[in-house]
Amino acid sequence: MGYKEFQIKIHTDYTEIELRQTIQQKLGIQDFTFQVFSKSLDARNKRNILWELRVGVTSESIPGVSPEEKATLKIPYTKTGKKALVIGSGPAGYFAARILLQAGFKTTLWERGKDVAERAAAISSFEKGGAFDAAGNYSFGEGGAGTFSDGKLTSRSKHISLEKKYILDTYIGAGAPPEIAWLSHPHVGSDNLKKVVKTLREEFCAMGGEFVFNRQMTDLIVKNGKVTGVVAGNEIFEPDIVILAIGHSALDTCRMLMDRGVRFRTKNFAIGFRAEHRQEIINTAQWGVKTLPGVKAAEYRLTSDAADQPVYTFCMCPGGKIVPAAAFENTNIVNGMSYFARNGKFANAACVAGLNPDVLAGKNIGPEDALNYLEKLETSFHDFANGYAAPYCSIQDFIQKKVRQNSPPDSSYPLGLLQAPLWKMLPETVTHAIRLGLQDFCRKVKGYDTGMLIGLESKTSSPIQVIRQENGLCEGFENLYMAGEGSGYSGGIISSAVDGIKVAMMAVSKFQ
Ligand SMILES: Cc1cc2nc3c(=O)[nH]c(=O)nc-3n(C[C@H](O)[C@H](O)[C@H](O)COP(=O)(O)OP(=O)(O)OC[C@H]3O[C@@H](n4cnc5c(N)ncnc54)[C@H](O)[C@@H]3O)c2cc1C
Repeated sequence: MGYKEFQIKIHTDYTEIELRQTIQQKLGIQDFTFQVFSKSLDARNKRNILWELRVGVTSESIPGVSPEEKATLKIPYTKTGKKALVIGSGPAGYFAARILLQAGFKTTLWERGKDVAERAAAISSFEKGGAFDAAGNYSFGEGGAGTFSDGKLTSRSKHISLEKKYILDTYIGAGAPPEIAWLSHPHVGSDNLKKVVKTLREEFCAMGGEFVFNRQMTDLIVKNGKVTGVVAGNEIFEPDIVILAIGHSALDTCRMLMDRGVRFRTKNFAIGFRAEHRQEIINTAQWGVKTLPGVKAAEYRLTSDAADQPVYTFCMCPGGKIVPAAAFENTNIVNGMSYFARNGKFANAACVAGLNPDVLAGKNIGPEDALNYLEKLETSFHDFANGYAAPYCSIQDFIQKKVRQNSPPDSSYPLGLLQAPLWKMLPETVTHAIRLGLQDFCRKVKGYDTGMLIGLESKTSSPIQVIRQENGLCEGFENLYMAGEGSGYSGGIISSAVDGIKVAMMAVSKFQ
């Protein structure tokens, strides 16, 4: 049985039968099986936009032998009886806990928020004008920040590591669309993610793990560099290993960790706004037409080095929705999500300036000051709106620094918009950089100036990073690890899940 791998270009709304016929014609053979390994859109020639596929074909008619099976992540198993506690059910926490469980540890996962069904109900009620729920919002609850998202599974590295393959296979096994294994820009969609995280939890419990909701770690008991107890209200858990995967919104938990001697440093991060456009403007700019059969909605990713600070777009949600993403009452921030169909009227993306917290604060600051500074900004947007309506202005007004009396724009944001001089609401270093960046983006994407900016976008990454030893342990501790976005070593679903796996593997090799 021989094997051959090659590229195919095919029109955008091809069918499986047409794909098979194309392979048949290319190889001149009838009996074969094939697998798609990658699929990306080639839109360089707007008059002839094509899917570019890499396919692997296996057939008796091809000389040679079949390729070897791809390597998979090896998790060493020993039934240790040791107790592992993981804090946080986001991608980092879930995958860390799954690895520990599969390696033979008695594994418990605590999540401060609600399960996904209750969380969805709390978010829906909030978006209809109900009260903010501290245990059920876009940041906290089952699946972490990634559940009510676009579910983009892109990571900067093009290399499919063993960890990434394990994550994608696990997601697919739990009901994510199989195409995430081969699309160059895969996404799961919030509608699918809600089902996937529930299935993942059920799998974890079926394998013998314990998953506890509404259980917030409130303190650590530390003796001579060893965590001897993890506290949740009146409960104390005495673990052998602790992995913290708390995300980068749990400022209260971070402060508690600092008080208990966990060492952090500041790091570069990004801040700015969400840009929103009509999706058909983006489609027309990218494809030359408003719709393209066989492709959901056009994406964009822009960067500018026109200013001293880099300005870039991030986490673009085609056909998506801007959401009120505050983790705490009386703060007001936005983020973006979409459903698998990506068929909403709007496109949104973070439009942010990357910088160091010292630059933002205008002086040298420590990790706790960085969190305080960020919280103050998030509160100032809430105070401006006196609630959760989102401050906004048009991109043109932002560039020209003037608020015109526009009629209220149509937007996907559910809690109303409030016109605001956004250029006055963040430090001049940031707004100056974003202004120059936007001018660049308007030159690059036809119609970009028709959009608006909505604030505040403050969660692209963490401004602090825990100090880790080479063996993954938090500096000064013998059984405490920190993984994922809250540790400052990852950003996004895939890289956080990968970090969770890597940290868990280091814990396994030390404690098994
Ligand atoms: C609306 C939105 C859309 C996004 N879209 C995308 C996207 O399309 N693609 C992408 O790659 N990334 C996206 N992101 C970012 C992505 O979700 C995060 O990078 C990722 O979830 C980080 O994973 P994590 O496990 O490190 O932390 P989180 O996912 O933040 O999980 C941390 C968990 O810890 C829990 N926790 C915190 N403190 C405690 C405590 N004291 N006790 C118990 N539990 C605690 C929290 O409740 C939370 O569930 C999006 C984020 C948001 C908010």
